[in-house]
Amino acid sequence: MNKLKLYNTLTRQKEEFRPIKAKQVGLYTCGPTVYNYAHLGNLRTYIFEDILKRVLIYNGYQVKHVMNVTDVGHLTGDRDMGEDKLEQGARREGKSAWEIADFYWAAFRKDMQRLNLSEPTIWCKATGHIKEQIALIKKLEQKNFTYKTSDGIYFDTAKFPGYNKLSHQPLAALQEGARVEKNDEKKNPTDFALWKFSPRPPDGGEKRQMEWPSPWGVGFPGWHIECAAMSMKYLAHQLDIHCGGIDHIAIHHTNEIAQAEAATGKKFFNYWLHGEFLNTGRKKKMAKSEKNFLTLERALIKKNINPLAYRYATMMVHWRKPMEFSIKSLLAAENGLDNLYDELKKLGRKNGKVDNDYKSKFLATINDDLNIPGALATVWGLIKSDLSAADKKTTLLDFDQVLGLNLNQIKAEKLVIPDEIKKIAEERQKAREHKDWIKADELRKKIEKKGFQINDNDQGYELRKI
Ligand code: AMP
Ligand code: ZN
Repeated sequence: MNKLKLYNTLTRQKEEFRPIKAKQVGLYTCGPTVYNYAHLGNLRTYIFEDILKRVLIYNGYQVKHVMNVTDVGHLTGDRDMGEDKLEQGARREGKSAWEIADFYWAAFRKDMQRLNLSEPTIWCKATGHIKEQIALIKKLEQKNFTYKTSDGIYFDTAKFPGYNKLSHQPLAALQEGARVEKNDEKKNPTDFALWKFSPRPPDGGEKRQMEWPSPWGVGFPGWHIECAAMSMKYLAHQLDIHCGGIDHIAIHHTNEIAQAEAATGKKFFNYWLHGEFLNTGRKKKMAKSEKNFLTLERALIKKNINPLAYRYATMMVHWRKPMEFSIKSLLAAENGLDNLYDELKKLGRKNGKVDNDYKSKFLATINDDLNIPGALATVWGLIKSDLSAADKKTTLLDFDQVLGLNLNQIKAEKLVIPDEIKKIAEERQKAREHKDWIKADELRKKIEKKGFQINDNDQGYELRKI
């Protein structure tokens, strides 16, 4: 049996994956902050997570996948300073924060469909889990991990040993990074808000739209508490894998671990997987704040490019390697995907059996830390092999459970073989029966020159278009 190995940020090693419950996996993926469209960078991370989920299922695991929707509490500064992105979006578009959240969550789900990303088992919104977040903060308060400032309740990171265990950065470096956003009331620069008080607007000023009563005062939850509270609620005894992009390592996920482990005294998730960035020009990450971001709609749909070409493009780069976005590479991926579809069309309508050798090669490749570029090489090796068309087709459709390229929707071309070709093929078959290999070879070349390929098999031979 081929063991699944995954690179775990926590241990900085490729490790054999062992779930807490046999044959079942709890998977938590940090979801979208719904104040704007997702950009291609965000979508790269979601594609990697979808492939991880498909690989788990292909390996026979039952996956309980939880994805949150951040619809409150994510501030423009990652360190609890600035404005709530949802409230900012509402002002930008003259809508309510709730409308903004609904609109961009729907847009996100549409992108998911276009990219063939399977829906999570459970969607959970931060605004739908205020009670759970308050309960978790209370627990932290009881255990003495919190303190109050003029703008909220904060987590005291100095009280949590091993605060830097996910990032592997010296504490001093984390503190230094955190100083970027100045907040004199914090005890340590890395401390973060669990609950923020609603700012009191000057007379006539705008009031926050999203706020709730709490034991500490009216306000809203911090960004990191939602994922800790909701993952523990829905994956209580299945805290197996937690994912996100690499930007989540040093702040968001580090803080999730601190809160969850401080509250429970138990290890939070066992495996932490972080996808590398999509960059645009000179290694600059694609980001909403940088205004260099491209949406699926703008970069592909409006240009009539199949959105799955972007899925295919991301699959050509390993998830732990940075990917540079360019129109040229996108078009190359579109071409590659079209070629794959064309090859499939030529394989005819008949189904065969899944080829064991190719399947084990494919499985070994995907199980080696999700080596999808390697798996695509196996796909092309299979296409070029001398297996029968029916077996190739069935094996490809089996692989597509992981690739998610909608290969089952590709209709086979009706294969019309001209009489002339049929005649040469029969002549060649006779030459083979008489062991006249030289003549058989000449006739094969003649067939190929006329645009057909002949493959010998147990039943005789098979013709197909080149
Ligand atoms: P957000 O909606 O900003 O909370 O981000 C959603 C997901 O996209 C998170 O997992 C981020 O880590 C990830 N992400 C953000 N920017 C990029 C990027 N340029 N490339 C890949 N993933 C990204
Ligand atoms: Zn999260």
